[in-house]
Amino acid sequence: MLSAIPTQLYIDGNWCDATSHQTLPVINPSNEEKLADVAAAGAADVDAAVQAAARAFKTWRHSKGSERARYLRAIASGVDENKYFLARLQSENSGKPLTESAIDVADVIATFAYYADLAEQLDSQQNAAVAIPSEDFQASLRREPCGVVGLIVPWNFPMVTTAWKLAPALAAGCTVVLKPSEVTPLPELALAAIIDATGLPAGVLNVVTGTGQSVGAPLVAHPLLAKISFTGSNAVGSMVMKTAAESIKGVSLELGGKSPILVFADADLDLAVSLVTGGIFFNAGQMCSATSRLLVGESIADEFLARLKQATEEIVIGNPLAENTQMGPLVNRAQYERVLRYIERGIADGAKLVTGGGRAADCQHGFFVAPTIFNEVPLDSVIWREEIFGPVLCVRSFINEQEAVALANDSEYGLVATVVTGSAARATRVSAALEAGMVWVNAPQVIFPQTSWGGMKKSSLGRELGPWGLAAFQEIKHVVTARA
Ligand code: NAD
Repeated sequence: MLSAIPTQLYIDGNWCDATSHQTLPVINPSNEEKLADVAAAGAADVDAAVQAAARAFKTWRHSKGSERARYLRAIASGVDENKYFLARLQSENSGKPLTESAIDVADVIATFAYYADLAEQLDSQQNAAVAIPSEDFQASLRREPCGVVGLIVPWNFPMVTTAWKLAPALAAGCTVVLKPSEVTPLPELALAAIIDATGLPAGVLNVVTGTGQSVGAPLVAHPLLAKISFTGSNAVGSMVMKTAAESIKGVSLELGGKSPILVFADADLDLAVSLVTGGIFFNAGQMCSATSRLLVGESIADEFLARLKQATEEIVIGNPLAENTQMGPLVNRAQYERVLRYIERGIADGAKLVTGGGRAADCQHGFFVAPTIFNEVPLDSVIWREEIFGPVLCVRSFINEQEAVALANDSEYGLVATVVTGSAARATRVSAALEAGMVWVNAPQVIFPQTSWGGMKKSSLGRELGPWGLAAFQEIKHVVTARA
């Protein structure tokens, strides 16, 4: 069982300081106190980690899928044994309520267990015959690991975004250099300690903490890397892609969103209120999948908004570790100030403030923003078009289904969407018409490892989870042999 938080780099199976001996402070966003100082790595540490991963790849790539499955199951068990410690640590580091961290930990366990099954299945699938229209040749298919991979993750779902990359990468037979967010490195360092305890061979996983500039950039540029899998902002994702292009590295990108939730007049309004509040105030709105644009049928708009305002004002905001807390602070001062600037901009652009609109009352310290709703938000306003990444909901009404779908799709993003309706036929029609990688119908944002994650347009390049998440770390090889 874990009791202490590792704060060093994890390279080649050893814990070590950064070569510069520099560190970065990690802050608890609910009270602004320092939680730890972690190693602030640089290019030399990145190189050591990549070299270790490259050495380990020579053996790991030939391991049997069943062997890799044993490690993945051991990781799932290790996370399960430490689930309370991990949930608490993540809540302290990121500010999300303990109940939400518990959901994240359960997701991590499910993801490692799922990819253990897929790793095991690979053994029997290897060298599978491929049907070809010829009697002179026979063809077979191999799925091979793509090589040493760099995984770069954000702070909003630290352990989950890591698990969605790490589990399939290990299952495929890749070796890994993981770069956690400098804002929330503690959950991943704890995860690395759990993985170390499983006896995973040295160098298969390496964890390098530090800033995007000093660790992320040299990692993306490293010539020994086959691929970068990145989750984060569009601005950085675009830079990652540009740098990767120079050495023709593969990239997978999970980026931003400005997702719609459509509430039709035939919806169960109690359900709709809970789906709308959950879609924007979970993790204080710091979700790539936040349904931050509410489109509501005109005939129910006034009644629905009144109910929504009441539910929003009842949300319990405070210490993430307290049992009844429903919403914590934003992750750091930069994010807090950014969201407050968006709120000011919304007011300046003429959107009607329904509730919230500033710092949460009753919270003396910490980066707390009140859950905020704007109505009649102009279509060309910044708050309607840009990802705010905070607890700010933008509302507009629509006259008919056609207009609802057009408004929903009028975004450069296309990650997810939620549809709330009492009509099964409408649900089918609208789900098919929406430009999004995931559509929830009358459902909260449930995610299963078996279903894909990723979006259309500028939200993603590629898909995570499911067999697609595994394929992202595999090369395909066909062998065609002349029959004797
Ligand atoms: P960010 O882009 O600032 O940082 C993400 C990661 O990239 C961090 O580890 C950071 O240190 C690193 N980084 C920064 N500069 C870099 C560089 N030049 N080269 C390489 N790496 C660099 O994003 P963030 O603020 O941590 O996270 C919020 C963003 O992540 C939001 O836009 C959100 O929508 C997105 N996100 C998307 C998904 C998804 O699945 N689509 C999931 C979670 C978060």
